[in-house]
Amino acid sequence: MNILYGVIVFVFGLTIGSFLNVCIYRMPRGESIVSPGSHCPDCNHPLGVWDLIPLISFIALGMKCRYCKKEISPRYFFVELGTGVMFLAVFARFFIYENNPLAFVSYLVLCSALIVITFIDLEHKIIPDKITYPGMIAGIFISIFTRSFLPSVLGLLIGGGILLFIVVVSRGGMGGGDVKLAAMLGAFLGWKLIFLNLFLAFLLGGIAAVILLIMKKKGRKDYIPFGPYLAIAGMITVFWGDRLLSIFLPFLAQTH
Ligand SMILES: [Zn+2]
Repeated sequence: MNILYGVIVFVFGLTIGSFLNVCIYRMPRGESIVSPGSHCPDCNHPLGVWDLIPLISFIALGMKCRYCKKEISPRYFFVELGTGVMFLAVFARFFIYENNPLAFVSYLVLCSALIVITFIDLEHKIIPDKITYPGMIAGIFISIFTRSFLPSVLGLLIGGGILLFIVVVSRGGMGGGDVKLAAMLGAFLGWKLIFLNLFLAFLLGGIAAVILLIMKKKGRKDYIPFGPYLAIAGMITVFWGDRLLSIFLPFLAQTH
């Protein structure tokens, strides 16, 4: 039975992934995410049902638009597949293993938001308020039901507060979007885990910056989007937070 549910969650994830692709393309361009219906970004031809089957259409059409034959970014494929896999992982861990339906729903919402933010920030170097503000509200709202309202509010304030402090001190090394993303993550993760999330994000960002400097892909002054590191660190925290907290920040793990 669990396998059947798993398949349903995976297919649901693929479908949501298809919608996240629409968000990734349209939100930074200020377009509506509901209308008009899907169309090819190059020739604007409306796409039919057979062009929109997750994964399958992409492969069947040879990664090209059926109408203008222009190549479609592989991002569409990987976002769909990635969302399906992430949904399945969240389902297996929180619904099946931990038997915690609320955490399951909460982390599906969080991981969808993080996928959209990651790809928009990578391409456009912005993090839309249209995701982070509703995200903060969603994180706080869900915490009411999990009886972790106060940790969630504290998480929002601490996450946003620490990054706001860095923005002020570093004068432009980081953006306001990063502040709001950290606040959103804090609302979902609570005050303890947001410390770990920020710690891991700086660790990942630092390692990546050193690698990029050595490979001379980026100069010391180049702007590197921080959103994707916050997002990846956020998902690591969702899955392994408690264990990593006792390794990296043991004094926090013992605090009640
Ligand atoms: Zn086309």
